Amino acid sequence: MNSFSYNQVEEVAEAVADLNIHPNAKFIAGGTNLLDLMKENVENPDHLTDINRLSMATVEETGDGGIRLGALVTNADTAYNELVENRYPLLSKAILAGASPQLRNMATDGGNLFQRTRCYYFYDTATACNKREPGSGCSAINGINRIHAILGTSEHCIATHPSDMCVALAALDAKVNVTGIDGDRTIEFEDFHRLPGDTPHLDNNIRQGELVTSIDLPANNFTRHIHYLKLRDRQSYAFALVSVAVALELEGNVIKDIRLALGGVAHKPWRDKTAEAAMAGKEASVENFRMLAETVLAGAKGFGHNDFKIELAKRAIVRACNEALKTE
Ligand code: SF4
Repeated sequence: MNSFSYNQVEEVAEAVADLNIHPNAKFIAGGTNLLDLMKENVENPDHLTDINRLSMATVEETGDGGIRLGALVTNADTAYNELVENRYPLLSKAILAGASPQLRNMATDGGNLFQRTRCYYFYDTATACNKREPGSGCSAINGINRIHAILGTSEHCIATHPSDMCVALAALDAKVNVTGIDGDRTIEFEDFHRLPGDTPHLDNNIRQGELVTSIDLPANNFTRHIHYLKLRDRQSYAFALVSVAVALELEGNVIKDIRLALGGVAHKPWRDKTAEAAMAGKEASVENFRMLAETVLAGAKGFGHNDFKIELAKRAIVRACNEALKTE
């Protein structure tokens, strides 16, 4: 690990200023991913701005029936928060499917958005990786790629986003509130993370020096028929090969609204809003869920070892939708 300077800040403005005078700095809160990356020499910040003392650790109701998650609320406190459990059970279930209790006690909601891929080559500094070292190549495309992406890939990177929480946030149309030296702005969740394109070293659309302060969840009617299905190589403490967050709003057995997001298949949580919209007014049946799965995976492409994910994702969508119908 390289040496670095460290500053624990007390105010949001101080945090933003600190990062802007240290262009190769990182914010640190729970540190559950960043410290691993630093120990492996994958990330080498020369300064850490510790934001743990900032007042961003509450879950609050917003005036429009939604809630605001402070960026420093831990994943555990979010999953077991009464408002979240009652209004956004999909988010609780997704968080509890991820990591381990110890990690969820440390990891923050803001930090969860910045988890980096678990591509083996990204962590192995002896190999070529465009995400770690732009222009060096991608070892996964013709290498071992069992855990890699099947949607939204590029010739430069086929990595997946590792978060479970973010899959639910995508399905729930979350918004990310950030602040920087140019002021505050809000980023729609679908615009927060990026596809790899020819800039796979960029995971998201945050600007240099911007700090995530909170995440907003708008009001919705997705409290009853929801399911988070995570398929992985072992039952706990493993990243998703494929995950599905689904929320249904039904009128009788007819779909009024559906949200569907996939994890483990792309560089960002994957949604197909056109496919979702086409389900409105249709019967909530296995046949229609199969049609939805075929549509969502229509553009999927495997790279050899991960070919199985295409069929797995289709079956996972149908299963998750059926499970959501049973939810009371
Ligand atoms: Fe690097 Fe992306 Fe290729 Fe993995 S898939 S080796 S992260 S460029």
